[in-house]
Amino acid sequence: MKENEVSTGATYSVETDGKTGLRRMTVSMGGGCPVGCAYCYTYDPKFQGYPRRNADQIVDELTRRVDEFDILQWGCDTEPFLPKNKEITLSSLERIARMKKHISFATRFVLTDGEIDRVASVAQTMKADQKFLAGFHSYLGRRAIAELEPHAPSADERLDGMRRLYNAGIFTFIFIRPLLPTITDQELDGIIAETKNHCHGHVVGEVFYRDSVDGVTSPNRQRKHIDLGLVSPTRQGASMSFGPDTGDWNVFADPRIQRLVGQHENVFAHSSEVFPFLAEKFPSN
Ligand code: SF4
Repeated sequence: MKENEVSTGATYSVETDGKTGLRRMTVSMGGGCPVGCAYCYTYDPKFQGYPRRNADQIVDELTRRVDEFDILQWGCDTEPFLPKNKEITLSSLERIARMKKHISFATRFVLTDGEIDRVASVAQTMKADQKFLAGFHSYLGRRAIAELEPHAPSADERLDGMRRLYNAGIFTFIFIRPLLPTITDQELDGIIAETKNHCHGHVVGEVFYRDSVDGVTSPNRQRKHIDLGLVSPTRQGASMSFGPDTGDWNVFADPRIQRLVGQHENVFAHSSEVFPFLAEKFPSN
């Protein structure tokens, strides 16, 4: 985290995607998240949250840094469609629609029809600049949702939400991330089967976790689902950082990510990859 990001608190980081070369600006709304997903890195004591920011503050900062990024990714440290957040999310998206950037948002919540209409209107506005808006709907399967995301909408509610988003003409992708080691192969194939008619593709991703001082993985909460897999022979190591004060985080990239990318159509290992895909598939957007 850079010093100016601490002082403004609205943005999180800019990172260049290795495969597409696109620069991603991740927007943090700040203020924490009460949803309590068991694997969420924001609950780690070392994670440095951001102060809550309103739409004016976020849009002002994005405007100031407009030359630094190609993709705006909305939502990383809180659920953007929480009741307390959704008006900030929607009004900000409406105000940045002509910024000439691709935009995505990620959610575990279910948008109302009125909210979907507002998102569709933003996407329509962006078409004038040949930019895409992508909605990433999180869906880790019925068991993981019930066990690890007990305060988020149910699997059935989410399937309905992603279907309505998709039917409204929004480019909709399913987030299977973090791909937890305890999600079985059968469950993974089931996730693809249950959602494939309600989306333009799937994005599969890594688990972020941190080693504890006692030598075992500590982080988040209810770690058993992550720990079980990490002690298995499939463990792969890499590290990343959320900033200088948050310590080193390990990245668990499940080998099944590459299997899914290879076996299924329109499965991506990184969220940035959906934008070149959309540009190729929908050139007249
Ligand atoms: S909704 Fe997102 S930010 Fe909130 S607890 Fe779950 S993973 Fe974390």
